[in-house]
Amino acid sequence: MTAPTSAQPSISFEFFPPKSEKMEQSLWQSIRRLAPLSPDFVSVTYGAGGSTRERTHATVCRIQAETGIPAAAHFTCVGATRDEIDAIARTYWDAGIRHLVALRGDPPETAGGVGGRYEPYPGGYAYAADLVAGMKRIADFEISVAAYPEAHPEAPSAQFDLDNLKRKVDAGATRAITQFFFDNDVYFRFLDRCAAAGIHVPIVPGILPITNFARAVEFAGKCGASMPAKLAETFEGLDDDPETRQLVAATVAAEQCQELQARGVHDFHFYTLNRSDLTIAICRMLGVKAKAAAAVAPVAG
Ligand code: FAD
Repeated sequence: MTAPTSAQPSISFEFFPPKSEKMEQSLWQSIRRLAPLSPDFVSVTYGAGGSTRERTHATVCRIQAETGIPAAAHFTCVGATRDEIDAIARTYWDAGIRHLVALRGDPPETAGGVGGRYEPYPGGYAYAADLVAGMKRIADFEISVAAYPEAHPEAPSAQFDLDNLKRKVDAGATRAITQFFFDNDVYFRFLDRCAAAGIHVPIVPGILPITNFARAVEFAGKCGASMPAKLAETFEGLDDDPETRQLVAATVAAEQCQELQARGVHDFHFYTLNRSDLTIAICRMLGVKAKAAAAVAPVAG
């Protein structure tokens, strides 16, 4: 991650499994546009409470089969026993998926849109560190985990959360992907704390291009990421002006990534929200160019 900045950066893209035919078409349109940037891997999220188990599996396998890009499956400890989770992991291994993003997960949202308190599932893996250890017992998966530069909102302290990250790495994770952040100093201070704690795996910044500012504020509130006042000022008044908002969003995210790059960051993970435009623009600004036209089959139906 601190390799010389002259090399083309390593990038990865995160998608979520589509819920409808229309969303599937828009996902595949994005994949077709992003695949030629040759990401190191892409990953597909797992809905709260395991609600997307089949769709995540289908999407991960299809992306890897049709693009040849290594695809990672997110999965969580929520709502399943160890035996059930182990069985899912084996199906991934048998399908040729070698990379998992192992998470504790959050309880499913209630009707009011708020998740309840997390309780380990009876007979399940309690926390992500336990899940990582369990997956490593199943097969030699590459495992990425989540990291929180501003601490996970439920952690009793930032030190506890850092120790938790260390436990995940000691259990076999070889990469951490951060929750999104908008203040790069927060990330660099976190890297220093990780190094001091003896965490030496890459801590890849998770980049969220802001497509909808109100939604970004809501996400940030839920996951404990701070929102700099300057960003709010920059996006203020653009709610009904999508063209300008898109240009501003690309500029803001490109500036954030260019500063990270100038300070030695080499790996970037993009929360694409299944859209390609902003991510492509930011990658361009980082010097990532299409390597080859990807032969991705058209969407069926
Ligand atoms: P953990 O590392 O287990 O930590 C969760 C909390 O518990 C922390 O506060 C930690 O300090 C604390 N803790 C850890 N161990 C213990 C212990 N033994 N006793 C008490 N407390 C403990 N969610 C999804 O549902 N699906 C996804 O696909 C998904 N993808 C994500 C991808 C990334 C890159 C990130 C950053 C997050 C993602 N999330 C996803 C959200 C994630 O599931 C939530 O943030 C969740 O609340 C914590 O998951 P974790 O893996 O970080 O948990």
